[in-house]
Amino acid sequence: MEPKISRSNARLAMRLQGIAVVALVGSVLTVKWYIMLIAIVFTFFAAQYADEVCKCPHCGAHFRGLNASKPDAGYCRKCGELMEFDED
Ligand SMILES: [Zn+2]
Repeated sequence: MEPKISRSNARLAMRLQGIAVVALVGSVLTVKWYIMLIAIVFTFFAAQYADEVCKCPHCGAHFRGLNASKPDAGYCRKCGELMEFDED
């Protein structure tokens, strides 16, 4: 069995990062420091989660913005192995 990237996790990671961007912009508009702080913390954890999920299952290299709607995640830029999503 080839190691694979979880498609549902990659999708969730991208959604969380999308929410983080909206939260950051929204929080700046409120001009309230504690709301900005919450948004920054949320963004930090969303990025951490994306790092955890979006990595090469062969060598562990990290990738930003893996496209979970594609049939596979492409080839790793570091080790050159095909990175596949599992089926969900
Ligand atoms: Zn790799």
